[in-house]
Amino acid sequence: MINLISDTVTKPTPGMLAYMMKAEVGDDVFREDPSVNALQERVADMFGMEDSIFCPSGTMTNQIAIKLHTKALDEVICDIDSHIYQSEVGGYAFNSGIAITLIHGQNGKITSDQVQQNIKPGFDWQPISRLVVLENSCNKGGGSFYALDEIKPISELCRQKSLRIHMDGARLFNVLVETGEKPKDYGKYFDTISICMSKGLGAPIGSLLIGNKDQIKEARRFRKVMGGGMRQVGYLAAACDYALDHHIERLKLDNDRAKKIGAVLSEMPYVKLLKPVHTNIVIFELMDHIKDHEFISILKNHNILAVPFGGNTIRFVLHLDVTDNMINQVCDILPRLNTFFKND
Ligand SMILES: *Cc1c(COP(=O)(O)O)cnc(C)c1O
Repeated sequence: MINLISDTVTKPTPGMLAYMMKAEVGDDVFREDPSVNALQERVADMFGMEDSIFCPSGTMTNQIAIKLHTKALDEVICDIDSHIYQSEVGGYAFNSGIAITLIHGQNGKITSDQVQQNIKPGFDWQPISRLVVLENSCNKGGGSFYALDEIKPISELCRQKSLRIHMDGARLFNVLVETGEKPKDYGKYFDTISICMSKGLGAPIGSLLIGNKDQIKEARRFRKVMGGGMRQVGYLAAACDYALDHHIERLKLDNDRAKKIGAVLSEMPYVKLLKPVHTNIVIFELMDHIKDHEFISILKNHNILAVPFGGNTIRFVLHLDVTDNMINQVCDILPRLNTFFKND
């Protein structure tokens, strides 16, 4: 099977497993796991920020960030397709008691003008605009990403208006290999940044929230109350460490393969709309007479696994466990599917 469901489906490589086995561990709730401490320091340094905290998931790092930056009756401003709105169970309301203002951006991206227009003036009957969240790359935007020149004005606006700004960088490294930018280029424009190690980087678990010392100290309390204080997890931190050493550069391959598949799809009569392919995600809408679940099951009969992604769209995600041979097969199979959708 060629599994394109998500970049979370990868299995640790033999090299990663061997490296994990050698990890020194301790109780991380007491800050005594040397592997976790080293990873947290390494990641903070990469971004030119003060400190970071290792968490079990990207949902937790985002939720902790929202909690850090807001209090009840505040609001967060973000794109309507954001993970924090679409895929975190409404946690902004549940964990932080805040409201949300949704911007209809372009493929998941919002502009400083749109943010400006949505900052509330502060009447007694309104929530207080307190936080802006940018997602980079944008998952539901089809892997689109911000140029630094698009981020700068949003960051400046936030500073000027005393709003905090957080980046959900679950797939930030897929962006960096595309633009040639460095993590440090991003560190200076955000109060906090969240990155995921279990997506394209191929670790079995783990996300980090990066920020200043005080924020991360407070984040440790929020992580604990969410049940995310972990003990001898140095084995998992070691997997992340290995991923940072060995799996960043190869993300370019995932991006290039996504573009290759996108080029094939762009010619297919059964595709109504293909989102521009920028990184490792391919999202396309099917012609109206073809239903997503039907398409998924035909793909499955041809050994390709994928998920319906809402609004009669299909998502493919490229990752570490996909081989050249699989890509050739996918590019060969996609045109053959036309025979199933002849009429109409
Ligand atoms: C995957 C993802 C997350 C975190 O998801 P978890 O499954 O909780 O680790 C956050 N933001 C985006 C954009 C994602 O794609």
